[in-house]
Amino acid sequence: MKQSQTLIPTMREVPADADVKSHQLLLKAGFIRQNASGIYSYLPLGKKVLRKVEDIVREEMDNAGAAELLMPALQQAELWQESGRWYTYGPELMRLSDRHERKFVLGATHEEVITSLIRDEVKSYKRLPLTLYQIQTKFRDEQRPRFGLLRGREFVMKDAYSFHTSHESLGEVYDRLFTAYSNIFRRCGLNFRAVIADSGAMGGKDTHEFMVLSDIGEDTIAYSNSSDYAANIEMAPVVTAYEKSGEAEGEVEKVSTPDAKTISSVAELLNVSAEQCLKSLLFKVDGENVLVLVRGDHEVNDIKLKNLFQADTVELAPHEEVSEVLGCTIGSLGPVNVKEGVKVIADHAVKAITNGVCGANEEGYHFINVNAEKDYRVDQYADLRFIQEGDVSPDGEGTIQFAKGIEVGHIFKLGTRYSEAMNAVYLDENGRTQPMIMGCYGIGVSRTMAAVAEQFNDENGFVWPKALSPFDVHLVPINIKDENQRTLAEEIYSALRESRYDVLMDDRAERPGVKFTDSDLIGLPVRVTIGKKAAEGIVEVKVRKTGEMIEVQKSELVSTLHEIFQTI
Ligand code: ATP
Ligand code: MG
Repeated sequence: MKQSQTLIPTMREVPADADVKSHQLLLKAGFIRQNASGIYSYLPLGKKVLRKVEDIVREEMDNAGAAELLMPALQQAELWQESGRWYTYGPELMRLSDRHERKFVLGATHEEVITSLIRDEVKSYKRLPLTLYQIQTKFRDEQRPRFGLLRGREFVMKDAYSFHTSHESLGEVYDRLFTAYSNIFRRCGLNFRAVIADSGAMGGKDTHEFMVLSDIGEDTIAYSNSSDYAANIEMAPVVTAYEKSGEAEGEVEKVSTPDAKTISSVAELLNVSAEQCLKSLLFKVDGENVLVLVRGDHEVNDIKLKNLFQADTVELAPHEEVSEVLGCTIGSLGPVNVKEGVKVIADHAVKAITNGVCGANEEGYHFINVNAEKDYRVDQYADLRFIQEGDVSPDGEGTIQFAKGIEVGHIFKLGTRYSEAMNAVYLDENGRTQPMIMGCYGIGVSRTMAAVAEQFNDENGFVWPKALSPFDVHLVPINIKDENQRTLAEEIYSALRESRYDVLMDDRAERPGVKFTDSDLIGLPVRVTIGKKAAEGIVEVKVRKTGEMIEVQKSELVSTLHEIFQTI
């Protein structure tokens, strides 16, 4: 490809609205352009990288025995009503109507479409198991689209779905796709880990997320410092055994705590530790009031709360409702004398607090010497808090540390969540009707591209790994108006293409400084520069990653490149 014939609008300034490296460089090097918030055009270089990621995904999915298909992005609302997600998916789902006022959604995911397809087409156990996948644009009206391609509102996903007659069969495909995913992210050159995850809105049980380790990751991974345990902190269970101090239980006393509205200010005022305090938060769990108690130095994990109640929605109660239900504003809340009808649930750690401190449900007052059960009701104890660094690892080996991760893939065992809701059944060997057992498997293809961009760069621009680089070689004649240089450039361009190198030739009449800056910014693995020694048939080869430069005779260029490409 010649640069004069394509569109690579490089920039010299870092775009103001881009705050992570991948987003800055994808814009600056002319790979993408933003169209609207979270919505992008892939320019020719960006499209090539995207396609390379897709090709790796395709190869590994095909090898794992999955067949590609393509389903519609525009989906009838009826299917989502059947599964129930029309009512529970929330504002992320893009909804629209056609000219007859029939409701549709733009596909955020495809469980509904594929389940309806398979229920119509597969009737017998003889046709199962079956694994199908597609690579397609998805739409999600994200609350905070950000970091460029990492969290878009329109993005490219590979989604796969498997159908089975038994959990063993699902387990086999799950394991096979686990391996395929590991291959895909390894081939993309990413530093990743597979972690145990929460099934969230998908309604499944066994699930793993594939996380690229990165400081800009929005997820936190809790991993053991001495075993291979790794989980999303959203779901990592806390296995700490709490013990009571043995101190005698005192009498409750109300104390004045003006202006102390946070755990730390209350603890300071009363000269106690945060561990001695109760944190009380009023939640709406599927609309019901639930007072949640955790120790002052702990944080409520709303996903654990959601799972405990098997709820569709969990949110903090709005301020006005807190006042209505508990009689005061947040900052002085507590569990003592809470009226019936408000469920009180507590993290296990709360049970072990002797003579604790909590809000008195009266503005500016706290209680001291409160003890669970004696002074306040707890309807249920459960694991409700986020794991913390230094906690015992849930597998019992070592302690927990945190790392940040970008979720690039997610695999789930769905079970019969969709087949039961949507009546996707088959006839077994005995002629009995059974719901299909399902799995689903996603990869953020465009997010993976951004994760690679985030990992492979230096101060001058991209340093693409060869598997994903938009081109193999950047051929740069310094002065295209020079007859010798131009002729040699054309000759080498043809020769390299014949040797199956994908070449980008900078045939623009630009100054050398502009060409070199752009070349480093674009970041192809190897640059071949044609300059003053063109008349002697000598060119310069530069390896982008190491900066290593050598001069070679044109006759030796192909063999030199072969050698270089073996080593990078
Ligand atoms: P997240 O927690 O990041 O919102 P998710 O749990 O909603 O992700 P899934 O529904 O599991 O994501 O989608 C499968 C994959 O699609 C994810 O692993 C991720 O790589 C990708 N993905 C999800 N949302 C986006 C987005 N807004 N932009 C780009 N890729 C996304
Ligand atoms: Mg999401």
